[in-house]
Amino acid sequence: MKEPPRPSNTLENIMESFSEEQLSIIMKNLGAIQLTDGCSVGCHFCGFEAQRGIKVYFPYDQLARLASRFSKELATSQPFLYYASDPFDYDFDGHDYVEVHSIFAEQCGYSPSVSTTVPVGREELVVKLLLTPNEYTLRKLRQEIEDVVIVDRDGKKVDTLTMVKLQRESEKFDESGKKAFAELNGLIDVNKNWTNIFRGEEILNDYDYRLIWQNSLISRVSVSHVNRRRLERAFYSLVPNLMPENQTVLPYEMKPEECYLTNDTLFAILNAFGVQHSNGEYLSYSEHMQMQIFSLNDRQLAEIKAREERAANGNITGQLYVVELPGKRFVISPDKPVRYQDIIKVLASFQLDQYFLEEAYGSTTEISQLLKLGALNIQDLAEEGISCFHGVLITPAGVFNVQKVKPSVEYPLGQIITPISSSDFKVIRFERTDGSVDYSKRVTYIKRDPTPMFSEPTPAIR
Ligand code: SF4
Repeated sequence: MKEPPRPSNTLENIMESFSEEQLSIIMKNLGAIQLTDGCSVGCHFCGFEAQRGIKVYFPYDQLARLASRFSKELATSQPFLYYASDPFDYDFDGHDYVEVHSIFAEQCGYSPSVSTTVPVGREELVVKLLLTPNEYTLRKLRQEIEDVVIVDRDGKKVDTLTMVKLQRESEKFDESGKKAFAELNGLIDVNKNWTNIFRGEEILNDYDYRLIWQNSLISRVSVSHVNRRRLERAFYSLVPNLMPENQTVLPYEMKPEECYLTNDTLFAILNAFGVQHSNGEYLSYSEHMQMQIFSLNDRQLAEIKAREERAANGNITGQLYVVELPGKRFVISPDKPVRYQDIIKVLASFQLDQYFLEEAYGSTTEISQLLKLGALNIQDLAEEGISCFHGVLITPAGVFNVQKVKPSVEYPLGQIITPISSSDFKVIRFERTDGSVDYSKRVTYIKRDPTPMFSEPTPAIR
């Protein structure tokens, strides 16, 4: 009979077996805490060769104590909470991953990065999180903009929302736009903190939902045959408008030879719909980004209706599929219905590589290479592993140094994992290695805090 997952006592053991100074070094150089030993998903392409099924997990109370005791150190290293595991597998003793995430956000002041392949049963939770701004990020933004001081030419304080409204108005090419622009130029930002003000106010006041999506608790979803159908069902149940038969189909003008919308065409459509935008916002529109998200007010919706009526009179050709998502967000897709993968693609276009689809990557050598790791691919290993740091890893099996190396027969996952002990204490200095790694560079070890440090050569690659 299958054994249920059991709580791990590793965190307690780590606390007891290392000195305070050693613990501090470990926490400052921590790249990841793997909440469970084993993963329920079992992807055949797993770049970590995670063992199938969850055997052991870290108890919630111990994670809370760790975050509280080492909040300062963890605020520096900002570990994510998975490794050869999926964060959403965590659901033990009445506490799920979102609660664990909140502990680190509240205690250590950062929102851990989250990548998921969506374990069975977590689809609705993941979709809801994707469509919702991260509460913690919003709160931080509120705090940031509270500190901002802006005054007008007469020295009178101007609130930040007024300033953002002026900015929006100034983007119009008419008299009111000119007036707003002049007024905006007269404001003095005492804190020199414009970027934060705009980001904060736009998010907090629902001006731009793309920014809200960028601030979802989840930063990456791997969509593949492992979860495609399950995710689709979750999207359809939470966003019924996404069902093809429920989508609004609008007419629009499109030349037959166009395989995607050019910027000019897109601007023409947005203008026709009366959607507020500035050129700068849409310049990245391309073949890979076949739709946009935008918000519409009632007046704009009325304009769409009027446009439909004009089209009914035969003035416009072509079709545009529009889906309304929760919170007056709209996704548009030319010529074919919007699919849930399209929404994930939109997210990808805003966050570069943050969301990936197996089908999108399957055709590129880069990603198919990336996934060729481990014993199964020993004859044809990828150029690089998927680990993204040199540093410390804590798992229910213990505390380890992780060094990223080029995948080889000896290290087919592209990493060397070695246990750390209190008697022969040496910790790899934390370093993010997203992007390409210089394997000839030595990793730096720390034995005591602060320094001395020493370095060791990367092992020979066979
Ligand atoms: S790729 Fe991620 S979700 Fe899939 S088996 Fe490996 S650790 Fe689990």
